[in-house]
Amino acid sequence: MKQEGDIKRTDLFLGYECNNNCRFCMVSDKKETVISASTAQVEQEIRDAVARGVEELHFLGGEPTIRPDILHIIRYAKAQGIKIVSMTTNGRMFYYPGFAKKLLQAGLYNIIFSLHGHNAELHDMLTQSPGSFEQLKKGIENVSGENIEICFNTTIVKQNYRHLPDIAELMVKYPFETTEMIFVHPFGQALADYDTIVPAFSQVEPYLHKAIDIGIKNGKKIHSRYIPFCFMQGYENYMSEIYERADVEHKGPDFFEEDVTNSRKKTLNVKFEKCRRCKYDIVCSGTYKQHRNLEEQYRPVPGKKIEEGTYG
Ligand code: SF4
Repeated sequence: MKQEGDIKRTDLFLGYECNNNCRFCMVSDKKETVISASTAQVEQEIRDAVARGVEELHFLGGEPTIRPDILHIIRYAKAQGIKIVSMTTNGRMFYYPGFAKKLLQAGLYNIIFSLHGHNAELHDMLTQSPGSFEQLKKGIENVSGENIEICFNTTIVKQNYRHLPDIAELMVKYPFETTEMIFVHPFGQALADYDTIVPAFSQVEPYLHKAIDIGIKNGKKIHSRYIPFCFMQGYENYMSEIYERADVEHKGPDFFEEDVTNSRKKTLNVKFEKCRRCKYDIVCSGTYKQHRNLEEQYRPVPGKKIEEGTYG
């Protein structure tokens, strides 16, 4: 849903190389087969985005900060007139205070740090990168208090769902704007190791609600993503999907998706006949069809059909 004041945004995947090796990596199969965009290609992407009216550029990977040209790319985007430069990062390179400062000076304004555990044992086990938790924590500290926006995301998997409240408790110690707790994408390594990585939605539900409550208690927005409404009763206003913008496009070295929200709903998600009996049927688009046992997992909620924006 487009919000007043929204500006057109491109999420630019710069390549899939990374200094972590997450057990659930959704692009693990692309890391060695897709060549990262060159500096000249990224510059062209930025000029093309500006020509399409884009005012916010969000860099993703892989890990954007390990590119030797990342400072140039941020400066180039600002020089081309991009108003907001943002990034999703594992945060490890922010550990180096001089480099973190240069990223901000170049024009990086909004940073989404990926935090998957409340301690080194859990986070490093998931990233398969010893020391990644301590580097991330120090990295967040290095930019806290600066004139920027800090956000978080957490990938929900079997190994961490019971600790979502602990992760929320850690997050609220930092001055963040929003957090997304994202149910793991059923692609890449998560799909290859599905039974080891992907929990049932009903398992996640109570811990996620508790994490959201911790956010509420601390005046912070913690939202879910990719979890159907039937597991978010009473927490519908904390689902990223209801704030989804219609003007976000995704561009990577190997794809271009102009209308992310609608394409996800139309081609990637699935619902079933039983969903017709559910009060969320009009507003819900289900979730990724690659997940297993979805028909069994979905649980229609009886009641008057809910229209967009009437969750209470
Ligand atoms: S419409 Fe289907 S998937 Fe969506 S909330 Fe209802 S039962 Fe769950």
